[in-house]
Amino acid sequence: MAAQTEEERTRTNTFQLQPKENWKRVCLIELLDPAAALVNIVTYHRRQAYFDDEQTRNDVWNAITKTEIRDRFQPTLGRAITDKLLDKCDETWDGFFTQLDDYHDGDREDRPSPPGYCKDGGQRVLKTVVRNDAYTVEWGEHSRIELALGSELKEKYGIPFNQRLRVPIRGNPQYEGHGGRLELVYDRSTESFTAHQPVTFRHDTTRAAASGDEDVVAAVDVGANNFVAVTTTNGHQAVFDARPLFDRFHRITERIAELQSQLPDGEHSSRLIEKLYDRRRRQRDHAQDALIRYLARLFEEWGVGEVYVGKLDDVREEHWSAVVNEKTDLFWAHGRFRRRMHEVLDGECGINVEEESEASTSSRCPQCGEEESVGRNGDVFQCGGCGFEGHSDVVGSENFLSEVVDGNVEFNTGRPMARPADSGQNGPEWRHREVPRLEWDDHEWRRRGHSTKEEPANRSTRKGNLASGVSR
Ligand SMILES: [Zn+2]
Repeated sequence: MAAQTEEERTRTNTFQLQPKENWKRVCLIELLDPAAALVNIVTYHRRQAYFDDEQTRNDVWNAITKTEIRDRFQPTLGRAITDKLLDKCDETWDGFFTQLDDYHDGDREDRPSPPGYCKDGGQRVLKTVVRNDAYTVEWGEHSRIELALGSELKEKYGIPFNQRLRVPIRGNPQYEGHGGRLELVYDRSTESFTAHQPVTFRHDTTRAAASGDEDVVAAVDVGANNFVAVTTTNGHQAVFDARPLFDRFHRITERIAELQSQLPDGEHSSRLIEKLYDRRRRQRDHAQDALIRYLARLFEEWGVGEVYVGKLDDVREEHWSAVVNEKTDLFWAHGRFRRRMHEVLDGECGINVEEESEASTSSRCPQCGEEESVGRNGDVFQCGGCGFEGHSDVVGSENFLSEVVDGNVEFNTGRPMARPADSGQNGPEWRHREVPRLEWDDHEWRRRGHSTKEEPANRSTRKGNLASGVSR
C-alpha cells in the first residue's frame, strides 16, 4: 500500500458570464472599460518616465502614485479590483526590469521592451483582474458569480450598497478548491464575457500510484475526418467529434472567399475580412484549448504519465491532398495543437508529451493485423480478414499506440482496449460501441447520449478525399 501523499496544485477553471438583462451587460462593460483604462494610464506614465533619460528607475515607479489612481478609479471599480490591477501593473514592470537587468548582465541577448498598452485594433482590450475576496462563484442549478463593484457603479445601477452584482454563469468547472485572482475578459467579436479562475487544491497522488498504472501511456490521434481519438494502455478510449466545429469554420472560410471576390482591384483585404479571420481563429482556439483541458482531466483520472501525439509532417508529403493539408494547417492548426499539448500537459500537469510520426497507422486491422483487405467508408473501418468493424479514427489511435509502446509496455490482455464482449448482438463485431464520444457545443465538449455505433451509418456518404486503403 502506497503511503498517502499530497501536493498542492493550481489549475484554471474557465467559464462564461451570461447576463440576461441588458443593464447587467452594460454594467459589466462599465466595469471592464475603466479597468483597462487604469492599466493603460499607469503604463502611459511609467513609459513617459522610462523614455525620459533624466529620470531614474525610481521615478518610473512613482510616475503616477497609487493614491491618484485609487482616487480616480475606486468609486467605479471598488478597492479590491483597483488594488489588484495596481499589483498586476507592478508585476508586469517588475518582470520587465528583471529582464532588463539580465540584458545588462549579459544573461539575455535581446533588449526587452517596456510594457505596452492593452489595445487591440485601436480599442482598449476590455479585461480586468478581480481579487479573490471581491467575487464568489457558486455552481449548481443556478450557477452564478457575484462581483463586488465600486459604490458609484452600484448606485448607478441601483444595486444596494451591501450587495454584489449577480450574473449567471455557464461552463464546466473542472477543479474544486480555493479560488484565486480571477481574470475577466470581454470579447467584442463574439460579445461574450469569459472568466479564468485559478484554483488551488490539495491533490492526492496516492490513487495513481496505488492502481499500479504508473506507466500508463496514451496515444492521441488527430484524424483528417475531424476527430481526435485517444487510446491508453490501460484500456481507456475516447473520441472527440469536431465536425460541427469544422462545418462552422468552413462556413466562415466560404464567407471570406466570397468577400474577397468582391473586393475592388488592387485591394486584398477589408476590415470585415480581417474580423472574420479573427473570429474563425478565436473559435477554433477556444475549442482546441478546451479539448486539451478535457484531455488533461481524463488523463489525470486515468493515471496517464506519458502521451504520444501524432506528427503529421511526413505523412502528408506522400498521401495528403491539398484539401486535407488545408484542414490540418488551418483548422487543426496542428503546430499550435502540439504546442498547447506541451504547455498544458507537460507544463501544468506533469504529463510527459512526445511527438511521433503516425504514418500508416490506420490502414491495418488492430485485431488481426491484416493490411491488404481493409477499407474505410467514412468513419467506418472494416477488415475483410477477420470481419472486424470499428471507428476508423479510433483504430488509428489503437494502432498508433501499439507502435509507440511496442516492447515498452505490457498490455494487460494482449490488446490494450479489451472490453467485455457484447453478447446480445449479431453481425459484424463493432468494437467501439463503448467508446465515449464528445462533441463541441460552442462552450464545452459534451458527452453525447449514444455510442459511436449510430454515427457511421448516416455519415458514410461523406468520404471526401479519404478513399479506402489510403493512409488516413
Ligand atoms: Zn482483421
